[in-house]
Amino acid sequence: METVKFTELDIRPEILKAVANMGFEAMSPIQAKAIPVELSGRDVIGQAQTGTGKTAAFGIPILQKIDPKLKKPQAIVLCPTRELAIQVADEIRKLAKYMASVKILPIYGGQEISKQIRSLKSGVQIIIGTPGRMMDHMRRKTVKFDNIHTVVLDEADEMLDMGFREDIETILNGVPEERQTMLFSATMPKPIMELAKAYQTEPETIKVIRKELTVPNITQYYYEVRPKNKSEVLSRLLDIYDPKLSVVFCNTKKGVDELVADLKGRGYFAEGLHGDMKQTMRDRVMHRFRSGKTDILVATDVAARGIDVDDVDAVFNYDLPQDEEYYVHRIGRTGRAGRTGMAFSFVVGREVYKLKDIRRYCKAKIKAQPIPSINDVTETRVEKIFDRIDNYIEDQNLNKYISMVEDFVNEKDYTAMDVAAAFLAEILGTADGRDAGNKEDFGDTGAEEGMVRLFINIGKKQGIRPGNILGAIAGESGISGNLVGTIDMYDKYTFVEVPREVASDVLEAMKNVKIKGKSVNVEPANRK
Ligand code: AMP
Repeated sequence: METVKFTELDIRPEILKAVANMGFEAMSPIQAKAIPVELSGRDVIGQAQTGTGKTAAFGIPILQKIDPKLKKPQAIVLCPTRELAIQVADEIRKLAKYMASVKILPIYGGQEISKQIRSLKSGVQIIIGTPGRMMDHMRRKTVKFDNIHTVVLDEADEMLDMGFREDIETILNGVPEERQTMLFSATMPKPIMELAKAYQTEPETIKVIRKELTVPNITQYYYEVRPKNKSEVLSRLLDIYDPKLSVVFCNTKKGVDELVADLKGRGYFAEGLHGDMKQTMRDRVMHRFRSGKTDILVATDVAARGIDVDDVDAVFNYDLPQDEEYYVHRIGRTGRAGRTGMAFSFVVGREVYKLKDIRRYCKAKIKAQPIPSINDVTETRVEKIFDRIDNYIEDQNLNKYISMVEDFVNEKDYTAMDVAAAFLAEILGTADGRDAGNKEDFGDTGAEEGMVRLFINIGKKQGIRPGNILGAIAGESGISGNLVGTIDMYDKYTFVEVPREVASDVLEAMKNVKIKGKSVNVEPANRK
């Protein structure tokens, strides 16, 4: 697998800056192949699924070609659904973050047309829309196509399946012939090839080569998670499966840094590895990982390239990889030399389709698993403690301890069962530091999964704003502000959600705290 850096492309520095800001380290395979061809002005047929980075693969060349001074539509992207149109617009907006005068607008059915017309009049240069609505504007002449130099058909197979063929053809007939046309599609059935033939000029077909690969000896599971719950789910899996060494893959450097900070905060020995680190630092991290001083290595694909560690017990795809081939490379870090390994993948929303592609490509069984509950975690830990206790009872002479317990039981009028249970609770609570604050069971406070809703007896009437609450919690408890969840403010009180594992710490830290000079009382909320 060869990697190409974005800096190797001849593109505007503003785009490079945005790409760096988005945390992209290297181009994904479709980007590496498509962008240079697109920059040369040629038409392209790209065979790529969602999740491969295809949006940037056409977004970057579009932005490169846009004339920011010309306040007229210059590029249109056709998408099958409103969700995709919004998603594509968001991604291109991020890429255009440093091109202040470039305006991007998603348009789709269901949205008030008069509002769209107003927005279109404000000098939009890139329009991303569903074919029906785009055609509607074309008929009403609320979009002028004279300056369009680039047209993208995104998820073309889906658009045809949804019956948009005629609309697409009408639009393509209405834009200047002198243009660049990029067609992206996951599959290439005959109708797609016909469309390409009729509306493209000598297109270059770009496809990411797929080698048939199999991955034996590796148990592969996937979990459908919400982005903000990923680190909680990861820590539960780490607790349950208890791998000695694990590698966790993130798609961006930023992701690596954030996850390392989060895991450290939870008491794990985790370190990050990414392309921005100096070689000496990387060597140090790798040394600590090999020697077992660090249990968890969080890495990007590029940084993990050189990793040669044989006994990795588990690989986590914290972010699903950009490409099927990466999946195989990633999980190939475990299950080496005849050993068994485990691979866990987190899937967010539509990524489940991407996972299906990976499954097909690897011919592997990646089984869906429910997210383990806190109780599952506790049960596993209890089982492990009992296993250790089995050994004590069988192998050690416990007479001395038995008489100590006997004395205690007689003195306090407890049963031996009470004492055993208390010992278990003590071990569970303190065996590792990060559970120390977890002893309290807050029950259902009406918060989202993994969170606890807290009540604070201060609200809008006292001139308090969400920022004050956030600042007080982060400042007093030392937890990162971005761990704080929803803040609902009312006149005289406020509800705020914090992650369950830090809730006790937050409550403790918020005792005797003043917010804007006012003493407050913080307690777990009652379920509404
Ligand atoms: P897409 O296939 O366009 O839906 O992209 C899937 C996800 O990958 C999006 O969240 C992008 O922001 C992200 N992405 C795109 N290109 C890269 C890259 N070169 N490195 C890391 N992430 C990327």
